[in-house]
Amino acid sequence: MINFSSHIKSKLPGAKTTIFTQIGQMANELGAVNLSQGFPNFDVSQELIDLVTKAMNDGFNQYAPMQGLLELRQEVSNSFFRNYGLRYDANEEITITAGGTQAIYTAISTVIHEGDEAIIIEPAFDIYAPGIKINGGIVRSYRLEGDDYKIKWNEFKLLITRNTKLIIINTPHNPTSTILSNEDMLQLQDITNGTDIMVLSDEVYEHIVFDKQKHQSVARFPQLAERSFVVGSFSKTFHVTGWKTGFCLAPQALMKEYRKIHQNVVFAGNRPMQTAIAEYMSTPKNMEISPLYEQKRDYFMELMKDSRFKALPSHGSYFQLYKYDAISDEKEMDFVITLLKEHGVAGIPVSYFYSNAYDNKVLRFCFAKTDETLEQAADILRKI
Ligand code: PMP
Repeated sequence: MINFSSHIKSKLPGAKTTIFTQIGQMANELGAVNLSQGFPNFDVSQELIDLVTKAMNDGFNQYAPMQGLLELRQEVSNSFFRNYGLRYDANEEITITAGGTQAIYTAISTVIHEGDEAIIIEPAFDIYAPGIKINGGIVRSYRLEGDDYKIKWNEFKLLITRNTKLIIINTPHNPTSTILSNEDMLQLQDITNGTDIMVLSDEVYEHIVFDKQKHQSVARFPQLAERSFVVGSFSKTFHVTGWKTGFCLAPQALMKEYRKIHQNVVFAGNRPMQTAIAEYMSTPKNMEISPLYEQKRDYFMELMKDSRFKALPSHGSYFQLYKYDAISDEKEMDFVITLLKEHGVAGIPVSYFYSNAYDNKVLRFCFAKTDETLEQAADILRKI
């Protein structure tokens, strides 16, 4: 018998089970208050659930079209036009996906060939680098160090070589909860102008931006939009991370190639969810979720104000970073384990999002939780 463990050549030799699974499992076993993985623990809109049930009862249980349900693509197109002023063609420039994750992987696969370079900005959501490597690409990391997580574009552009094919950005940003400004986007536009570099803009938190600031989608910047894949997700907007339904937008020529990969990866997204979400999205108010999360951010900060954890600013997404250097010298991963085992609260070490495990004594907490969960967590954290 062949021993496949020595025959199979790993495409991701260093990869382990993701930290979200590890910490999530430990939190469950220990009965800890779980602010680690980014998912809401409150109820989903009953109207939306009824719409899914109705779609199933109405018989919409077979394959959706490969590119997604037209009604939903039209709603996504309307939403981008309303919010960012760019009209994506629902027929040719929008594809519904099995979540943001598949949309991102597919965009990377569309662009990256063996030996191509892609730039990511660390701390980075953990699926970008593996997606690049699986496709034979080379990851170039720009690292944000210190506490403000601002991109210095004059340094960033030194990473660009003639092999650079893709830049991946993420705003609002997981894990730092920063947002890119108008000025950042103009800098990126400047840097990429006149090159054949494409941009993958992960905007899954587009509807969660605080303090009256505006989400700076690449769609607002015509010269960026023409070279960009934009990824969005209903996971975040409608608090349904388990539904794995998202989308990708790109100009026609890019989307044509994207769909060649998409149809061979997943063929089509989930049909009843698409029918329901299309109907729900036709009421734009259903996407106004910033006030809900701003109130949760403020509530958690208020609860934590007398603790020794120091809040770093959260401008968007449903995360907040807390610095613990006044409490412990432990490395982030060790401190997360101490917090879990000795105190019963789960967070995520930001070092996990760096390829060099840069350790700044900062943890990420998710505040997409009921007030009760936030109170339980803060009661414990305040005493440490
Ligand atoms: N991008 C970022 C920055 C995320 O935080 C997430 C979800 N954690 C995704 C993409 C993936 O979205 P989905 O759940 O729709 O696959």
